[in-house]
Amino acid sequence: MSGGPRILVVEDDLETRRALARELRARGYAVEEAEDGATAQRRWLARRPDVVLLDLGLPDLDGLTLVTRFRRDAATPIVILSGRYEEREKVEALERGADDYVTKPFGVAELHARLRVALRRAGGPVADSGGRLVVGPLVFDVGRHEVTVDGRPVDLTPREFEILRVLLANAGRLVTKGRILRAVWGEAYQGEDSYVYVHVSQLRRKLAAADPEGRLRDLIVTEPGVGYRVRESLGGDPGREP
Ligand code: CA
Repeated sequence: MSGGPRILVVEDDLETRRALARELRARGYAVEEAEDGATAQRRWLARRPDVVLLDLGLPDLDGLTLVTRFRRDAATPIVILSGRYEEREKVEALERGADDYVTKPFGVAELHARLRVALRRAGGPVADSGGRLVVGPLVFDVGRHEVTVDGRPVDLTPREFEILRVLLANAGRLVTKGRILRAVWGEAYQGEDSYVYVHVSQLRRKLAAADPEGRLRDLIVTEPGVGYRVRESLGGDPGREP
């Protein structure tokens, strides 16, 4: 039972860790467990996993430190296990390069959906053979630098275009405002979250105007206080697959 993705589960609570390991093994994952930060680092170095599930509150060191360390080594997807009152730590973990989070207590289906998306995205954005990203009636054509809805061009500013590019390239995944700022404006603009807010609002208005039927209404989902997530397909939950 180890042909599946290798996952490193870092969680100090024995009961939670065992339950997670059992659940993940049943789904075909090859699971390695770590009960503290030191063990997590040893396992990480010994055998690089395909994905990491990381609790932020560890007995020996800060989970954030592990995010930084792992991210320095590799682009391996990291999904945070966050407590309900760890809002700030969660955002900080995402800023440091974690891919996504689930808030405890979480449903098994939600966890699997997040892990699937994180693993798939590790392979890079999915474009069709013509280099276009397609979501319902919307086509993002990288080569032609054009966005169309039902074949009609949508007039976007360069910033709006770049924001949509970042979001679509990470479809299904959470993208923090800080990450959008870095990608579209640059390092010097850190903290200027209102720029992102204003431009995303404008982008939504333009897409809505191009789509009177409202099919794209829920394309860009706001994750309050954190950032945005673009749906991979329309008419379902973000990150959800059949
Ligand atoms: Ca803990």
